[in-house]
Formats: sequence, C-alpha cells, structure tokens
Amino acid sequence: MLVVMGSAATEQQVRDVCERIEALGLKAHPIPGAARTAIGITGNKGAVDLGVLEALPGVIECIPVSKPYKLVSRDAKAEDTVVTITTPLGDVLVGGGNIAMVAGPCAVETEEQCFAIAERVAPTGVKLFRGGAYKPRTSPYSFQGHGEDGLKILANVRKKFGFGIITEAVDNESLDLVEEYADVIQIGARNMQNFSLLKRAGRAKKPVLLKRGMSATLDEFLMAAEYLLSEGNYRVIMCERGVRTFSDFSRNTLDLAVVPAVQRRSHLPIMVDPSHGTGKRSKVLPLSRAAIAVGADGLLVEVHHEPDKAWSDGVQSILPEEFAELMLEARQIANVLHRVVN
Ligand code: PEP
Ligand code: MN
Repeated sequence: MLVVMGSAATEQQVRDVCERIEALGLKAHPIPGAARTAIGITGNKGAVDLGVLEALPGVIECIPVSKPYKLVSRDAKAEDTVVTITTPLGDVLVGGGNIAMVAGPCAVETEEQCFAIAERVAPTGVKLFRGGAYKPRTSPYSFQGHGEDGLKILANVRKKFGFGIITEAVDNESLDLVEEYADVIQIGARNMQNFSLLKRAGRAKKPVLLKRGMSATLDEFLMAAEYLLSEGNYRVIMCERGVRTFSDFSRNTLDLAVVPAVQRRSHLPIMVDPSHGTGKRSKVLPLSRAAIAVGADGLLVEVHHEPDKAWSDGVQSILPEEFAELMLEARQIANVLHRVVN
C-alpha cells in the first residue's frame, strides 16, 4: 500500500499520516520524491482500511501495490535514487546519470599489496576501493580473509589515499565491524537471500551494495533489496555479477539485460561486476564497456598489480594499466549517453 501526498503537502502533514499509520500497528516509510512524497506501508497482514488514511489532510490517494515489492518500486518513487557515498576524496554519487567506478583486489592480502594497488589506480581518478576482509569461499580450506585485521588495512588505505571503502560482510558479527570501518557494506551473491543478514544491513547507517545471487530471478533480487528498505535503509545499490547458465566458456553469464529490467521496475541504482561475471581477465574490459553502454550505474572491478600471485581470483583480476584504460573508455561511452563517471 502506498499513500500519495499532494505536492503542496507540508512536512507536518506527512508526519501526521506516518503517525496514523504507526498507530494502526503498521510501519510507515516516507519516500520523498521531486514532485511528491509517497508513504509506503509495510507490516500489514491483509488489506488495510484505506478510508481513514485517504481522509487525512495532504493525502491525494492511497494505492494498493500488487507487486510483491513495494518500497523499491517505481510506484513508490518515480525518479532515480542517487546514493551518495562519502569519501575523503569527496562525495561519490551512484545513480541518476552518475556512474561510480570501484577498483581493488578480490581479497585484502597484505597492507603492501593494498597500497601497491591503491597507488597504481589512484591516478585514474577512481574514488572507491574494494577488497574482501571476509571471503565466502567454496572450500573451507581456501583463504577466508583476514577479518578485522583486513578491515584495519582497508582503513589505512582510506587514510593514505582518501578512497571510500567497499567490503563484504558475511554474517551479523562481521557486519557490525564492516559498518564501523567501511563506507559501503557489500552483501555477497551467496548471502543475497540471507534474510537475517539483510535485516541487519537494513538497520545499518551505511549504504549497502547488494549483489545478485547466482541463481536469483529478477523478482528475488528486488525482494532482497526490499528487505533492506523495509528496515529503513534506503541507500541501496544493486549489483549484477553473473548468473549460472549452461554456457561453459566463462565462470558465470553476465546478465546485462537485468540492468534495464531493474531500472524499469525500481528507482534503485544498479552496478555491474564484470570480474565475477566473466571470471576471465580478457573478458573484463569488453563486458565493462557493454555494461556502461547498457546503462549501468557503476562498475565493481577486481584489479591486482600481480594477478599471478593473487591469493584469490587472480585469473579474473585486471592490471592497473588495464583499469586506467577502462576508466578512459568508460568516460567516453558515458559521455555519449549524457552520463558522468565520478
Ligand atoms: C566479491 O565481490 O568479492 C565476491 C565474493 O563476489 P560475489 O559475492 O558476487 O561472488
Ligand atoms: Mn573475487
């Protein structure tokens, strides 16, 4: 259910409607838009009695939402959400024509490794650095990440180079720490439907990058984002990272068609991860170009200065020089589409 407020509705009127919704035992989610504020209602078991809300001052109409997702949908907010990531190098905007680039290794290995990569990508103008301190690995015997020590290394990268930090949380405990150290909390593909983790991330005070599960349908992907918004976190960036198909020449099949599909249904920005999406270094640049061309709101790219020695995902990590080339190309492609890379 959505309560649509008139363009002239006052903040007090919006607050009054929210209070009335809460008094009914429901949760109110005011979503301000350019022209009007919509108030999403969650927590209802069945149909809500519209009459009482429709009569309140400032309310234009109440619309039942038949889709399974509400807050992420364009019904709740027609215009694009722009997520602002605050970094020492300045704010990075994601969405609404702003394309955000992210570079860094798969895993935080050592401080020297992170600094070596950071100093090589810094001249490209990229402002966001990635790297896993908690690594969800297929084998329990593979490197699992340095945990909090890894987060400390990332914090040092921020301090020395000014990058905003994006890193993954794998459970509630690591999420507490990631929220403290990082600028964006990543929820990985394997955890896209870890609903208790999503609820915790929905209560976090930092933006969330939500990766698509490797077999998730579009609706499942959107519903996972709905969990985050329903808990009050509206700063959500979706991320396509490839899905499993019969195609066997790449690690995953990068589903670029999901980008316009998400953008059509949802106001949330969507980035693309061409590294996990292809699993091969030689495919990362071509698919990155395609992702920008298709309208992605950003790219999350694994970069390593010595990929052959990387502790994980070396074969899909590009070199810093290749990332520099990608930044130039991304800017040119974005320019054709009247979008900006920041
Ligand atoms: C990652 O980005 O480090 C990662 C593990 O990705 P995914 O969750 O998409 O596999
Ligand atoms: Mn990886």
